[in-house]
Amino acid sequence: MSSHYDIVIIGGGMVGASLAAALKNSELKIAVIEPYPISNDESGINEKTYQPSYDARSTALSWGSRLIYEQLGLWDQLSQHVTPIQKIHVSDRGRFGATRLSAQDYNVEALGYVVPNEWIGKTLITALDSLNNIDFICPAKVEGITRTESATCIKLSKRNDATGQYEWSSQAVTAELVVIADGGRSETCQKLGIEMQTELYGQHALVTNVTTSKHHGYEAYERFTESGPMAMLPLGAADQAEGKKTDARCALVWTLPEEQVASVMAMPDTEFMVLLQGRFGYRLGKIEQVGVRHHYPLKLSQSAEQVRAGIVVVGNAAHALHPVAGQGYNLALRGVMSLAELIQRATNKGESIGSLTVLQRYIKDRYIDQDKTILFSDKITRLFGDASPGVGLLRDMGLVGLDILPGAKRLFARQAMGLGGSEAKIL
Ligand SMILES: Cc1cc2nc3c(=O)[nH]c(=O)nc-3n(C[C@H](O)[C@H](O)[C@H](O)COP(=O)(O)OP(=O)(O)OC[C@H]3O[C@@H](n4cnc5c(N)ncnc54)[C@H](O)[C@@H]3O)c2cc1C
Repeated sequence: MSSHYDIVIIGGGMVGASLAAALKNSELKIAVIEPYPISNDESGINEKTYQPSYDARSTALSWGSRLIYEQLGLWDQLSQHVTPIQKIHVSDRGRFGATRLSAQDYNVEALGYVVPNEWIGKTLITALDSLNNIDFICPAKVEGITRTESATCIKLSKRNDATGQYEWSSQAVTAELVVIADGGRSETCQKLGIEMQTELYGQHALVTNVTTSKHHGYEAYERFTESGPMAMLPLGAADQAEGKKTDARCALVWTLPEEQVASVMAMPDTEFMVLLQGRFGYRLGKIEQVGVRHHYPLKLSQSAEQVRAGIVVVGNAAHALHPVAGQGYNLALRGVMSLAELIQRATNKGESIGSLTVLQRYIKDRYIDQDKTILFSDKITRLFGDASPGVGLLRDMGLVGLDILPGAKRLFARQAMGLGGSEAKIL
């Protein structure tokens, strides 16, 4: 048994679902294959009943990503649970250099927004739920993928609800274009022999939510410490003026050397809070509560081969970045939009969307944006992760320089706002 689609998206995570949402108004027949069930629970998208848990993990969306969500017609929905970043404070622990970016200086409402990942997922899936041209094939996994001259064939295994195991399915799907969005350890890319160039940072990102005695005031902190960079992002709106109880917290992303992760993860909360307070300082007052800690090994990877005839690789399957600069999803979203526009243009002109010539038009600009974004987050991480004294001075000069030189600061701000790779005329 085999069904044919114009496009099959492998992976219904944030990037795969974003691509499906970007194509929702097309007349193309699309399938999304995902190993986990994709469904809206009973509370659905109801913003009144949705309560992000204290431990919900979040993503910082750039201003550029807000513009994309507006273009997709999903911003009104998403904005029900976003926290604006009105200022960004960049500093180096124990040194004098510091710089501040403010939304006001760039005539925008916010430099970016922090959103619980679960809410991004709900917003995207709800937008796709009722569409006739999009099928979700899940829970299912890709077991084999082969390309013929005109189509790509995917063999599937489906999850047996009784045993929880994935079993070979007689169902196969074919598609003119297959988009691989199955994440950083992409099994599909491995099956196709698509290699990633990977550099391990020897660091892990420790992620948790934190309550502080002072309200964040919608300011994000990027702090560089000798053990690695740390980001503290504002989470949760608050009506302090009326003296209401707030749910304001911060989302912490703390880079730690590999050899320290196990001991920091194992610390009791009280001990962890003392360590964190020592590293972050008192800009937000006292650290009063922390949530569940998670950690992720950090790597910089990019696939040198992101298009083949009938195949495109997107999201973490194509590139994974250091998370401290909050750029991975924002970069992927720009890629998803260019791909959706290319697909739409090619369809209108009657061109094959799987043709390598068509797909090469997409990849040229993508590499420019990817290289710029990787350079920004990688260089910043390495420069600020180096503890040697000469480099410390260089950092101070860099931060002070950013503060003094409007041109340099504008460039930095454009990249942080996700506009570095685009032509948007906002700044
Ligand atoms: C700690 C941390 C903080 C971050 N913070 C930010 C931030 O603030 N801003 C930002 O822009 N980015 C941030 N990022 C990066 C961002 O999270 C990623 O860029 C984004 O999640 C990539 O999404 P993806 O859909 O490509 O991959 P994933 O989220 O990994 O999704 C892959 C999907 O594919 C499915 N899948 C896996 N195998 C198969 C298979 N064989 N067949 C079918 N489907 C399969 C999975 O179930 C999953 O649903 C952060 C990353 C980390 C680690």
